[in-house]
Amino acid sequence: MTIPASLHEREQLAERLIPVACDLICRVHDDGPDAIGRLLDSLAPDEARALPVVLAAMVPTDRPVTDLLAWTTTWATASDDGPATPRHEAYAAGLKPCGTHAAYVRHKKRGENPCGPCRQAERAYQRNRNRPPRQPQPTGQGVAA
Ligand SMILES: [Zn+2]
Repeated sequence: MTIPASLHEREQLAERLIPVACDLICRVHDDGPDAIGRLLDSLAPDEARALPVVLAAMVPTDRPVTDLLAWTTTWATASDDGPATPRHEAYAAGLKPCGTHAAYVRHKKRGENPCGPCRQAERAYQRNRNRPPRQPQPTGQGVAA
């Protein structure tokens, strides 16, 4: 079976697949290959073909891939959990390094104590963040004497 020819039928198929897509997202995030396989096996061929399109339509295009997949990282590295996989390396390549606000937030999200450079960067970030916007300095021109 192929994707329905009429726009109306395609819209109906896509609408029917939205809860399926949400279910698949939950299974990918929280369950595992068995649960994912059961869902995919339950789909009719036209649904299986259309589901990736529905999922693609649900993905924001204004976020970097590293943000979209940030939930996947368990942050295994060569030093603490065997050799880093290409996925870990690709993910790591998109991250801000230690010594930035982003890395400070990352430490906190992982329940870690931020490292020294990150604590320092965060102090500077907060100091600058709370600073009122700069006012233009009077130049003395146009002032009546
Ligand atoms: Zn750090």
